[in-house]
Amino acid sequence: MTKGPLPADLPRGMDLLHTPRLNKGTAFSEEEREALGLVGLLPEGVDTEENRLRRVMLQLDKKSTDMGRYIFLQSLADNDRTLFYKAIMSDPVRFMPIVYTPTVGEACRTYGHIMRRPKGIYLSINRRGRVAEILRNWPEKDIRFIVVTDGERILGLGDLGTNGMGIPIGKLNLYTACAGVPPRMALPVMIDVGTNNEALLRDPLYLGLRQPRVRGPEYDSFLDEFVTAVQEVFPSCCIQFEDFANINAVPLLQRYRDKVCCFNDDIQGTAGVAVAGILAALRMTGKPLAEQQFLFLGAGSAGTGIASLIVQVMQQAGLSEAEARQRCWLFDVNGLLVESRNDLASFQRPFAHAAPPANDFVTAIESLKPTGIIGVSAVPRAFNQLVIEAMARLNERPIIFPYSNPTSHAECTAEEAYRWSEGRAIFASGSPFPPVRLGDRTLIPGQGNNVYIFPAVGLAVFATEATRVTDQMFITAARAVAAQVSEADLAAGLIYPPLSGILEASIHVAVDVARTIFAAGLARVDEPADLEAFIRSRMWQAHYRQLI
Ligand code: NAD
Repeated sequence: MTKGPLPADLPRGMDLLHTPRLNKGTAFSEEEREALGLVGLLPEGVDTEENRLRRVMLQLDKKSTDMGRYIFLQSLADNDRTLFYKAIMSDPVRFMPIVYTPTVGEACRTYGHIMRRPKGIYLSINRRGRVAEILRNWPEKDIRFIVVTDGERILGLGDLGTNGMGIPIGKLNLYTACAGVPPRMALPVMIDVGTNNEALLRDPLYLGLRQPRVRGPEYDSFLDEFVTAVQEVFPSCCIQFEDFANINAVPLLQRYRDKVCCFNDDIQGTAGVAVAGILAALRMTGKPLAEQQFLFLGAGSAGTGIASLIVQVMQQAGLSEAEARQRCWLFDVNGLLVESRNDLASFQRPFAHAAPPANDFVTAIESLKPTGIIGVSAVPRAFNQLVIEAMARLNERPIIFPYSNPTSHAECTAEEAYRWSEGRAIFASGSPFPPVRLGDRTLIPGQGNNVYIFPAVGLAVFATEATRVTDQMFITAARAVAAQVSEADLAAGLIYPPLSGILEASIHVAVDVARTIFAAGLARVDEPADLEAFIRSRMWQAHYRQLI
């Protein structure tokens, strides 16, 4: 037991029990209870950490829905943060879909109804001119990660206004659970510029600004104020832009990526996880990357982000940029991206090819003969039987990635992809699907979950105190994820490492990304001799600390 004077800022009594960062509830020892004014505020029984975890699991088992479990777990985080992380880290396969997609999607739809305690910072555009002052209201002073959204494109669910706050909270939970980033250093932020969601504007329990979204120069200058204020108040902070509509997501990233430490997970993280899946799929087929041809359904942030990274990886495989672009085709709500279209945004233009227009996806498949199709359109069931059968006719092992989230928006189910391709599809989706039984085989669908990439990149950025986040860091992460898929995983049809080992997988990825950061001269710390030991030493552990 550590003796000596208690830290002056250590709360006591009921205040301590209401401080989730320090609270251990019934696990406070007899000595801590005496020294910290807790005697009588707790039952006599002193629990072990394991006993408290057992009680959480019992209570979770009594909940009949994943929403009930989500609410229970978020309330647990408000009460005892260590126990919350201990619970979700005890079984990532079970808890990732509750803390994040698909359950978080349902939570965001109804966030104003289910909210218990506010978490994070809300920056309303009505408070313009005061952003730095508001950030200083946050009790922690050394913030290293902000996940920020304006709620306009929450998963594939559209504009959910401030209800979208569930996403930054969930993403930051994953930084800690999947890569050990200290939770104290993470801050979820909601930029509230209004919402165009009529149903929310009519909902008496909606908690955001009741006005249409502010756009244009006023919006841009508020975002500028935010980014500048973060540099001033939290100078070592990395900003992760999340679930902005593509009209803002792409320009925001372009505006800030070379000026501050920031990235957009929908664009770069998604691209990283897709490239990881493709590299692992090619280990399965034995075919070279330079011979692949990809057709995307959806040409928004995710589609153009993935395509851009594939182009860069193909260049590293020896193709010229023009040759690589010729192997990435995008198809959106108005058809194939071709040069003659005049409705394309500037970020889509580089993917418009000199080709005749096409408005039918199956026809586009038949003329382009892709080896892989990637769904990032949020259009449910868009990969119908005709689509999958066309891919299966053209390829021995067609790559089929319906990435749209949540599950209800996936372009096809795992069962459909396997059944219509006679079990030959190499499949990965954005939200999880259960194993599929086909004849006497059990096929295990992969999940192209960004959780393989962003927490590990985050851990490397945090440990090295990187000044920028580059595309090369996501390429390194993608290669490291693909390299961790074992031969046995590949033989079972898996193209991502098992989610059960996500923490160790993240450490391996973070080590490689940190090496890339040092090589690029972007670190603010000296390069250690043993990079893995250094990374591990920076990680937060979900264990109660002895307070006295
Ligand atoms: P976005 O709004 O930027 O882009 C959507 C695109 O889909 C647009 O190009 C639009 O034209 C196109 N589209 C819409 N209807 C269509 C139709 N009927 N036919 C063809 N195209 C159509 O959105 P985004 O950020 O690119 O995200 C798209 C989806 O990808 C979301 O569901 C999101 O959850 C998912 N996503 C998944 C992952 C992942 O699983 N790892 C990561 C990021 C995004």
